[in-house]
Amino acid sequence: MGKKVAVVVGGSVAGLACAHAVAGAGWEVVVLEKAAAPAAGSGTGAGLGLDAQSMEIISRWIPGWGIDAVTLPLAVDLNIATDSATKAARTLARDEDFKFRAAHWGDLHRRLHEELPPAVTVLWGHQFLSFEAPDDTRGVVATARVLRTGGTVEATGDLLIAADGSTSSVRRSFLPDLKLRYSGYCAWRGVFDFSGKESSDTMTSIRRAYPELGNCLYFDLAYKTHAVLYELPRSRLNWLWYINGPEPELAGNSVTMEATDAMVGRMRNEAERVWCPELARLVRETAAPFVNVIYDADPLRRLSWTGGRVVLVGDAAHPTTPHGLRSTNMSVMDACTLGQCLANWNSEPTPARALAEYEAVRLPVVAEQVLHARQLGRLKQGLPVDGEAEDGFDVTTAKAEVLQLRQRTMPFFDGAPAAVGGDFPLVGSTR
Ligand SMILES: Cc1cc2nc3c(=O)[nH]c(=O)nc-3n(C[C@H](O)[C@H](O)[C@H](O)COP(=O)(O)OP(=O)(O)OC[C@H]3O[C@@H](n4cnc5c(N)ncnc54)[C@H](O)[C@@H]3O)c2cc1C
Repeated sequence: MGKKVAVVVGGSVAGLACAHAVAGAGWEVVVLEKAAAPAAGSGTGAGLGLDAQSMEIISRWIPGWGIDAVTLPLAVDLNIATDSATKAARTLARDEDFKFRAAHWGDLHRRLHEELPPAVTVLWGHQFLSFEAPDDTRGVVATARVLRTGGTVEATGDLLIAADGSTSSVRRSFLPDLKLRYSGYCAWRGVFDFSGKESSDTMTSIRRAYPELGNCLYFDLAYKTHAVLYELPRSRLNWLWYINGPEPELAGNSVTMEATDAMVGRMRNEAERVWCPELARLVRETAAPFVNVIYDADPLRRLSWTGGRVVLVGDAAHPTTPHGLRSTNMSVMDACTLGQCLANWNSEPTPARALAEYEAVRLPVVAEQVLHARQLGRLKQGLPVDGEAEDGFDVTTAKAEVLQLRQRTMPFFDGAPAAVGGDFPLVGSTR
């Protein structure tokens, strides 16, 4: 019997992580990705934080990952409060046992791609259109448009893995009514490049105001708003600033919004009012800041369909707000668990039992993490948290409740459970 084949829709972090894990279970993998090419490196995307569990899993796929220079420590999780009137700062909550690492999204993506095993084929510039799971076969047939030529191709496999992100079209075919839920705020984001400018006034002053940069994940809270600041490898500072407001209109399927010069100008002026002069200056001098509209979705009740032939992973499975630094970490753990489950059940004729185990292991974890990230975001933005007082958290008066701000309040903070080969009720065509 030949190798089993998985067709993965989406070749971002979740898709490439699945390619590693599923190939590791002895499968062949075909990835369909609409982008024309892999990330070239740190210039694509911005920064992300990896937990110890993800670092360990990724190091199995990428030799040297973690001991090379591609990540920086985030050993301290620090929440501070800035008084916008006086610009004075005070510490709210500090955790010195954080054990995360900071990386460029583009570096992680490039390295995941470079180290793919020979059993994986990535078809760049292939836009997934639809799939069929014919009743008379055990397999799935995916159709994709080749963007360069306009023609279509088919990819046939035993399993379709949907890693097509928070607006997943595969998910839509099973859950047409599921809508993403607007969080109530958007994030301005930027990456400040200080190569060759370490001793500039901007860098000297920002390091004075945030002296633990390079080892610390800073959350800076002001009244009903907060910013995030940390250092990335190769002389970059990554910042985000969350601003409450009505849901903006978005073009197409992207949650990233084009920022006009006028919007950037207004944002920079507002930064002077809210933040300390050092952070406002960093924001002012960052080239090409952009806006992410922040969404999540209520946790799904299942992650696989079609009698165990289609499965969701990554943001397709659990769109989440970014406050628990979960998206990438959940994607890595999804991929690792899926690979383990397929390996556990490799002797079965179909992946149905493997997917039952995957769903049973991952659903409770991701559901809790998505809801906790939602709550953490609302807390930090001073918005009422479900079922609580209208006023929301007020950073100017907060006392004991500041301990809730720490990242370690995230469920499964110390690591999510792995698959162990347990038998779970079959994911059947009855559901
Ligand atoms: C270019 C890029 C840059 C990013 N930068 C950052 C960052 O700096 N920091 C951060 O925290 N997160 C970033 N993210 C998001 C981050 O990757 C995810 O939040 C998380 O890692 C989960 O990844 P995912 O693979 O599930 O989803 P996503 O990263 O959203 O990937 C979904 C993938 O599916 C592909 N896709 C969608 N529809 C189709 C289709 N019909 N056919 C073929 N392919 C399809 C998309 O092109 C995309 O590559 C970025 C994502 C992208 C795509």
